[in-house]
Amino acid sequence: MRKINCLRCGTKMEYAKRTKLQLGEAGWILGDLPHLIHGAMEVDIYACPDCGKLEFFHADEAEEDTMPQKRCPKCGKFHDVDWPKCPFCKHDYYGK
Ligand SMILES: [Zn+2]
Ligand SMILES: [Zn+2]
Repeated sequence: MRKINCLRCGTKMEYAKRTKLQLGEAGWILGDLPHLIHGAMEVDIYACPDCGKLEFFHADEAEEDTMPQKRCPKCGKFHDVDWPKCPFCKHDYYGK
């Protein structure tokens, strides 16, 4: 977890979440990154509680393990908590 202050107002920014960005969508955010990265990339998002500014950081591989995980009740594999379906067996958590 990084300690960063908002560039705009100096307030300590709060870690929001880690997510995957498709580079096509991310171009407007990460426009000055080198064009070497293909496909999806993981980013950590920080948010300023005062002014709402968001900052994106290329996720550190070492922090991978800290991502909250949940265990699929059907196939028993672990995956990120924000999947609406199990990415392995397609178990649907919100299904009826
Ligand atoms: Zn701010
Ligand atoms: Zn599963």
